[in-house]
Amino acid sequence: MMKIVAASGNRGKLREIAEIFKGCEIVSMKDAGFSDEIEETGATFEENALLKARAVSMALGCVALADDSGLCVDALGGAPGVYSARYAGGHGDDAANNALLLKNLAGVPEEKRTAYFESCVALCFPDGRELTASGRTYGRILFFPEGDNGFGYDPLFFSDDLKKSFGTADAEEKNAVSHRARALAALAEKWGEML
Ligand code: IMP
Repeated sequence: MMKIVAASGNRGKLREIAEIFKGCEIVSMKDAGFSDEIEETGATFEENALLKARAVSMALGCVALADDSGLCVDALGGAPGVYSARYAGGHGDDAANNALLLKNLAGVPEEKRTAYFESCVALCFPDGRELTASGRTYGRILFFPEGDNGFGYDPLFFSDDLKKSFGTADAEEKNAVSHRARALAALAEKWGEML
């Protein structure tokens, strides 16, 4: 069974990866012995995903998979984009990020609050081969948070597919339409074509 080291410690993400790459053993980078901080200095989701997957693949000499994702709001010119995790300054402060998003959208009417989550996934092989794929899920930004499931901007994101906020969706519902699941499925297909 092929081993893939995931450049993530997030259990939810590891589960999603394992569900799509069923024939592979998915190991977190920490369990594989990689604990360095990887700085996300890229200007795009793809660059950041590649930075992470390359770093792990080169350090451990293994097949490594990484993802980078964020929220892109049309009325804000695509922001917060690659800065989604640190939109309000501190890394991963969901409450501050959501408050800033609402503030920056104050006065923007419902029909102009369109947005999408994007995820790019990268798979790097020890021989230097690299594959990337991306996925999106569309919706709009609510005026108030709805539900507290998920993480990040989920309570403010009304999904076009689910017709409700990601904050009120359970994990199974969200995974069926999520940007990450779509990116992983596209990556698995590309990999299949390469074999
Ligand atoms: P990362 O790719 O896990 O580093 O995610 C970057 C940031 O984008 C997160 O901290 C969240 O703010 C946001 N984000 C990415 N995916 C999601 C999602 O599925 N729901 C809510 N927020 C997300």
